[in-house]
Amino acid sequence: MAGVVEQAAMLPPLGIEQLAVEPQPEPTELWGQQHTLTCGFERSGIGLHSGKLTRLRVLPAAAGAGRYFVRVDLPDAPQIPAKLTSVHRTQLSTELCVGTASVRTVEHLLAALAALGIDNARIELDGAEVPLLDGSAQVWVEAVQQAGWVAQAQVQIAPRLAQPIWVTAGDAFAAALPAAALRFTYGIDFEQSAIGNQWQSWSPSALSPAAAGAESFAEAIAPARTFGLAHQVEALRQQGLIQGGSLENALVCDASGWLNPPLRFSNEPVRHKLLDLVGDLSLLGNFPTAHFLAYKASHELHVALARQIAQSLL
Ligand SMILES: [Zn+2]
Repeated sequence: MAGVVEQAAMLPPLGIEQLAVEPQPEPTELWGQQHTLTCGFERSGIGLHSGKLTRLRVLPAAAGAGRYFVRVDLPDAPQIPAKLTSVHRTQLSTELCVGTASVRTVEHLLAALAALGIDNARIELDGAEVPLLDGSAQVWVEAVQQAGWVAQAQVQIAPRLAQPIWVTAGDAFAAALPAAALRFTYGIDFEQSAIGNQWQSWSPSALSPAAAGAESFAEAIAPARTFGLAHQVEALRQQGLIQGGSLENALVCDASGWLNPPLRFSNEPVRHKLLDLVGDLSLLGNFPTAHFLAYKASHELHVALARQIAQSLL
């Protein structure tokens, strides 16, 4: 989830636009092998918004299956693909839905799987929200690393972006720029001095479990926890949100500073935003080779950018 705060604090009414740009040369494609887990793993925890305890299992899946959720607590165990077409709501977390089956706060787990190059995974859960755990993706990354991975026969295609694409909302934006290598960059700017103006950039050397970039995601991005502003907590709770949020699983800040230090990084909030961006853009299936750049954005803007990219790749 993207800080309890950012959307309410910073986003004016959403007016998404895509600006016209000059046509660029035809895109080329990068190819690589697909991967899945060697074996499954299970973790349990409460959901950030629901506050309910959910048990979640991540299992190997066939080549070409993609990453998908299965609500094993519902009749006929409906499947929910981790794709843009499943996105239902993006208020303070990303929620997927197929029919009446939904799963919320998918972004941290999906970021871990995508950044570690796990293309195919069956994610079973017995509730409607992915456990928040410590508010970061660290537990998921460690679980994937412990489970191990295996290359699959089928190749994946990483399309190259043909031209820049961006979406805006007030002074917030999210953009994708053609680039020689995949990179994610994020900026935030809060009036609270404990947060202030922060930037972070991360580039995997390749989206493969064996790549050096996977290690740096584990070290530099995955441990960053979600965050919020103390003065917004009560209002959100009264709206039925963040019922599972606490000082144990979210950094909370007020005008005088952090309520629950120490931070894991001096710029932990923006690293978490980058984590959210990776998770939301993973709904594209494969990341196009591009430099993704977001500033003061939200799940809503991340998903809006992904939708524009998907259209451009058709
Ligand atoms: Zn988040």
